[in-house]
Amino acid sequence: MKTPHFSTLAVHGGEQTDKGHNAAFPPIYTASSFIQSDLSHQADFGYSRVANPTRSAYESALAALEQGCYATATASGMAATALALELLPAGAHIIAMRGVYGGTHRLFDKLRAANNGLSVDYVDLNDLNAVAAAVKPNTAMIWIETPTNPLLELVDITAICQFAREHALLTCVDNTFATAWNQTPLRLGADIVMLSTSKYIGGHSDMIGGALVTADEALAKKIDFAKTTVGAIASPFDAYLALRGLKTLDLRMQRQCDNALKVATALENHPAIEAVFYPGLPSHPQHALCQTQMRSGGAVVTIQLKGTRVESERFLSRLRYFILAESLGGVESMINHSASMSHGSMSEEEREAMGIFDTTFRLSVGIEDSRDLIEDLLHALDQEAS
Ligand SMILES: *Cc1c(COP(=O)(O)O)cnc(C)c1O
Repeated sequence: MKTPHFSTLAVHGGEQTDKGHNAAFPPIYTASSFIQSDLSHQADFGYSRVANPTRSAYESALAALEQGCYATATASGMAATALALELLPAGAHIIAMRGVYGGTHRLFDKLRAANNGLSVDYVDLNDLNAVAAAVKPNTAMIWIETPTNPLLELVDITAICQFAREHALLTCVDNTFATAWNQTPLRLGADIVMLSTSKYIGGHSDMIGGALVTADEALAKKIDFAKTTVGAIASPFDAYLALRGLKTLDLRMQRQCDNALKVATALENHPAIEAVFYPGLPSHPQHALCQTQMRSGGAVVTIQLKGTRVESERFLSRLRYFILAESLGGVESMINHSASMSHGSMSEEEREAMGIFDTTFRLSVGIEDSRDLIEDLLHALDQEAS
């Protein structure tokens, strides 16, 4: 049989069978433990930290989408990142993409550096000379995030993973923004995919979750051992929500990425806009890489307005459909003020050095009608330009 296409995999992928009553959707098994018939027979499930039927159904579907052999669903995206770090020895060194998610930065630099001797260098992973210069005897992993947040820089996954293999380094790709719909890092040579499923996988802004996925059996064993040992697992309720969300990932991503391209195109030459960052636009410096690596430019568009924070606040107050909120990836469009929200813990100098200003906004484009979204943005901007 041919490998099924994405939407078919999203609906039917993995082991979603219910052995109890043949339910069409895997039930929420809240049980912490499962009855064993006798001492010599091990049931499929014993204790829910180790494995749970609802979680397993979801994990196997997620593994299928990312083209892995194993997925583990965690309590949050950050729990997944922390779990990935359990694969490294104490005192390890990581080379990470500059501009990684703020929480990743905090975990690496504020917690693991202090309690585990982890050290991290942030470099542009597209500059392989810079990466080579950063490699130390204790370097153990390259942490990739593409596209980055909020400026949507891409990393050439194939090139960096090849470099990593030549240097016997593990690679982990934070695939939260793109999802398997846009790119499958495991096929491009990555060892591990990390996801915050709170975003597009769940897709409805109603849960927090994360996952690690791999296509390597030996790595799967190590991750599973670490997961069972640390225990930062997804609850059956959240696994249910995430699986329910995952089934419509194809429809949502199709619409959201289409909408994002339309929004980016409509805003690009607006007189009140200083810059639009969107990998799907030919003006994006890495548009060629986007076309080879991703199915679309994704569903996030970042804009930088002209003027100051004053104009930016006025713009915000006029929006009707873009809700001001942390996070992204839900069916509803959201707007995030990077300087005070996602990057609020950085100093102004640090932020501006990264290219994030008081006038920078990240749009998470939802599934609404693009005509309404564009009208909403233009209405808020036109008053600014006049
Ligand atoms: C949200 C996010 C995370 C963290 O995930 P949580 O589910 O919030 O813990 C990590 N990486 C990226 C790119 C994210 O957007």
